[in-house]
Amino acid sequence: MTASSLWFDHALLADGWARGVRLTLAGGRIADLQRDTARRPGEPAYDAALPGLCNLHSHAFQRGMAGMAEVAGPEGDNFWTWREAMYLFVDRLTPDHNRAIAELAFAEMLEAGFTRVGEFHYLHNDLDGRAYADPAEMAQGIVGAAETTGIALTLLPVFYAHSNFGGLPPKPGQRRFIQDVDGFGRLLEASRAAVRGLPDATVGAAPHSLRAVTPEELGDVAAMTDGPIHIHAAEQVKEVEDCLAWSGARPVEWLLANAAVDRRWCLVHATHMTPDETAGLARSGAVAGLCPVTEANLGDGVFPTRSYLAAGGALGVGTDSNVLIEAAAELRGLEYAQRLVDRARNVTARGPGRSTGAALFQAALAGGAQALGGEAGLRIGAAADVVALDLAHPSLAGRAGDALLDAWIFACRDNPVSAVWRRGRQVVAQGRHIDRDAIVTRYREALARITA
Ligand code: ZN
Repeated sequence: MTASSLWFDHALLADGWARGVRLTLAGGRIADLQRDTARRPGEPAYDAALPGLCNLHSHAFQRGMAGMAEVAGPEGDNFWTWREAMYLFVDRLTPDHNRAIAELAFAEMLEAGFTRVGEFHYLHNDLDGRAYADPAEMAQGIVGAAETTGIALTLLPVFYAHSNFGGLPPKPGQRRFIQDVDGFGRLLEASRAAVRGLPDATVGAAPHSLRAVTPEELGDVAAMTDGPIHIHAAEQVKEVEDCLAWSGARPVEWLLANAAVDRRWCLVHATHMTPDETAGLARSGAVAGLCPVTEANLGDGVFPTRSYLAAGGALGVGTDSNVLIEAAAELRGLEYAQRLVDRARNVTARGPGRSTGAALFQAALAGGAQALGGEAGLRIGAAADVVALDLAHPSLAGRAGDALLDAWIFACRDNPVSAVWRRGRQVVAQGRHIDRDAIVTRYREALARITA
């Protein structure tokens, strides 16, 4: 096993900022870590190192329809009209298209500073709704895209069986998502086999939402994994109303009362909660999976970040619909939405004199890793998942320590991520994924066929 090293002027290590940091890499991991060193002649040197973030919620294929649903319909648009546009896009997507789109999405995630993605994967069946011979046919495209781009993958096969609360039958537009519990068991097995050759890959399970699964199915699906369990919850007011009509309880309230929600769980969105639900979710140890860019794009609402953090809740961020893949924008959006609601500033900072950017980054680093069964932080023995910032960016001039995070998240028009390593392999150089040109070519061909 050959060792190599990277030298950084600044580095955010697991125990805080340090200067003159040498990371010695071997077998894809950080074999040694030294501080206050001088760069050796010829040693690869970079300005500032951050640990890679986890993108805890993605539907990769939706990257292909980014910007396509920004045209007004006849009667006002909302989440549900967007969903109709998404179903039309899904109707044309083959396994090859799916892979080509996922490659671009994952390359952009790496360029943005995400080194692991949680793919909430619900496209399972053929165009006519029949199961493929290989239940993981579509998932293979996700795995292949992770392999091509180098991003770490937490694959979250989705169980989806109904169109609304009370086990209502699925709609025609949902035919590519639909399964029964036995079919889901086969999908899980095939998914576990599919990721076997992928370093650091994890497979969890994702009951889609309380709309799409019955309580019995939720219990069955949760019992089929010892990995992460992700579910969409309380994203839309209509969903809360429908849940109340069905059960007398709100979605998060119902889950906390009826499912064994704990640290393995990630409730994606959890936008609409009462103060009791907010405190209960924080107490459960589960992660709130927040996707501020998509939540703004879809008009979902605003998550109660301030009270949730005050109650000790764990959170992470995800790019969800992938309408714009940018880690800094997710963190900034989380803070800005809260500022607009509260008419206050620095609402997520952990006290007077403390950095907002650092609070956002550290919360997303820890919560994202928890939700995806990944690792967080630069320390000896950890996977060498490293993001370098270019301090030649004018917005980073004269900054050090947490002020670098504040400037990156709030004040950089262009992305200052210059290089990224995944398991010690460089996958982004000069701000671009190393295979970007070939990936974009395949993406353009796929989009031409889908939109022809
Ligand atoms: Zn989602």
